[in-house]
Amino acid sequence: MAPEIALRAADIRAWLREHLTGEFAPLIGAGGPGREHEQLDLRARWERVLGAAGWIGLGWPAPYGRGASIAEQVVFFEEYARAGGPGRLSHIGEYLLAPTLIAHGTDAQRDRFLPPIARAEELWCQGYSEPGAGSDLAGVRTRATLEDGRWRITGQKVWTSLAHVADWCFVLARTDPAATRKAGLSYLLVPMRQPGVTVRPIMQLTGTSEFNEVFFDGALADADLVVGAPGDGWRVATSTLSYERGVATLGQQLGFARELAAVVAAARANGSFDDPVVADRIADAWAGLQGLRHHALRALSATAPDPTGASVAKLLWAGWHQRLGELAMDVGGAASTVAEAAPYELTDAQRLFLFTRADTIYGGSDEIQRNIVADQILGRVQRGTR
Ligand SMILES: Cc1cc2nc3c(=O)[nH]c(=O)nc-3n(C[C@H](O)[C@H](O)[C@H](O)COP(=O)(O)OP(=O)(O)OC[C@H]3O[C@@H](n4cnc5c(N)ncnc54)[C@H](O)[C@@H]3O)c2cc1C
Repeated sequence: MAPEIALRAADIRAWLREHLTGEFAPLIGAGGPGREHEQLDLRARWERVLGAAGWIGLGWPAPYGRGASIAEQVVFFEEYARAGGPGRLSHIGEYLLAPTLIAHGTDAQRDRFLPPIARAEELWCQGYSEPGAGSDLAGVRTRATLEDGRWRITGQKVWTSLAHVADWCFVLARTDPAATRKAGLSYLLVPMRQPGVTVRPIMQLTGTSEFNEVFFDGALADADLVVGAPGDGWRVATSTLSYERGVATLGQQLGFARELAAVVAAARANGSFDDPVVADRIADAWAGLQGLRHHALRALSATAPDPTGASVAKLLWAGWHQRLGELAMDVGGAASTVAEAAPYELTDAQRLFLFTRADTIYGGSDEIQRNIVADQILGRVQRGTR
């Protein structure tokens, strides 16, 4: 079937206006980083509505998706964010696993897994980090052995976002015990709802839990649920990382713009806007946001993947967002440091400040991004290859 495309912003806006209403109206602005605990059941139902209308997997090639261009996907994300569409529960499947299966999976894997992701019927989580393997991902110690035609998996993952709602996890595990570091790893697709899997939520600074410890204690996955060849997991896993924060970044920036607008409104309301230092920081935040947008547009229009560009983008937005959280607290003054009254829900400014502490850690910490930039740009200059 030829992909039916040419998405128009007005049509997307009209669809969202018609559907993000009624029972789904309470979802406007819900979910997303720092608020993942909100309205889980209703958000899951909302995603199935999105999926049924063909809005999930927009950029995947036919027959799995609609083959939308980058520009069309950007239009969708911008309209979704502008409408206050809720944070997505199925984004790890849609933006991380699906492109990985499209690039490295078998036809059988694509046929089995892409349609339920597109319908938001199966949610995924990412099982990479371990207590001894975060930045140093090649230190993964979770083991998998082939026994009676199935992988048997034993080990522990940590910081696994949304594992408590996920049906499946893509797990980086060591399948060749004799190999070390990047060799001998495999990329396995593991069902979460089985006796050998235990999910234990981790309480965050925000008082809520959106990531978890995950224990695999002899968990099972069919032998054909390995993406790429056994032992080739490092290559597959790093390709997944390259899909993190693609077209969704422009929608993310509209969320940032809304947060900045709330800070400006608070500063105007309490008079701190008249403080030239605050005004200067607000102007700086506004200018920084324009820079983020132009950087993202340039990166998305590049014809070839640019790993350095992705690292620079991550460094820029994480630092910008963290500074915005600090500004939000400073604008609120002393009142920012206390919760109003029981049940001690955080204000948006407090949640922003606390959750953005994590921005410079997840998706590759600032230090690791700087290492990549140093190696890719300065290293190449030094080696005379640039
Ligand atoms: C909100 C959130 C969600 C997450 N979701 C997931 C998920 O869904 N799935 C998943 O697998 N993981 C997830 N993570 C884990 C995340 O990928 C790791 O926290 C991150 O890779 C850092 O690893 P670490 O925590 O082990 O810290 P470490 O690697 O131990 O780093 C500690 C400190 O040392 C620095 N450091 C480490 N190595 C170097 C080096 N070579 N050079 C310079 N400095 C260095 C780091 O920058 C950091 O400041 C999430 C984390 C957060 C905060």
